Amino acid sequence: MTELYDYEMLLKRVRDALPENVKSHERFDIPKAEVIREGKNTIIRNFGTIAKIINRDPMHIYKYLMRELGTAGTIQKDRLVLKGHISPAMVQRRVDSYVRTYVLCYECGSPDTELRKEDRVEILVCKACGAMRPVQAKIDVRVSSENLREGKIYEVEVTDLSRDGDGIARYGPYTIYIHGARKGQRVKIKITKIKKNVAFGQIVS
Ligand SMILES: [Zn+2]
Repeated sequence: MTELYDYEMLLKRVRDALPENVKSHERFDIPKAEVIREGKNTIIRNFGTIAKIINRDPMHIYKYLMRELGTAGTIQKDRLVLKGHISPAMVQRRVDSYVRTYVLCYECGSPDTELRKEDRVEILVCKACGAMRPVQAKIDVRVSSENLREGKIYEVEVTDLSRDGDGIARYGPYTIYIHGARKGQRVKIKITKIKKNVAFGQIVS
């Protein structure tokens, strides 16, 4: 028999020794993202650390954030570099919703869970209470102060081209289509129409 225990095992032993009412009051603090701006990019400085704390595959979190924030990015050691300017509040909201969707047990709220994939379905398995639930992805469509507004002018960078040849720019969660814009161009546009996360802009200069 070995006397060596890893941290997780010790933690589990401590938890198991707690009376039931103490366990249920245990609260998990969702890690705070350290967000800074660097030129045209937004950096989550402690991305790797967050992944470790919530015990999830960094690539899984990465894909979720790219999809939810509607941007592109790269993982650089502990950092995640996101294209464009995204407010710290918006980044945190996505981190929060990731944790609520993929980490915290829907039954008991424990973060001591595991993500499994069975027949393409992601299942959240709780090690604390044994609950097994398919992941219910929640789509956050809440309106924020940094939302685009129709008729307002924004400066954006055209990062892609659509199939029809329109320029595409990203702004927070938005994909903006700009007629007549070229890839790589930085343009001032007036927003002419917004539909959920898709917007249309007209070049003004
Ligand atoms: Zn549970």
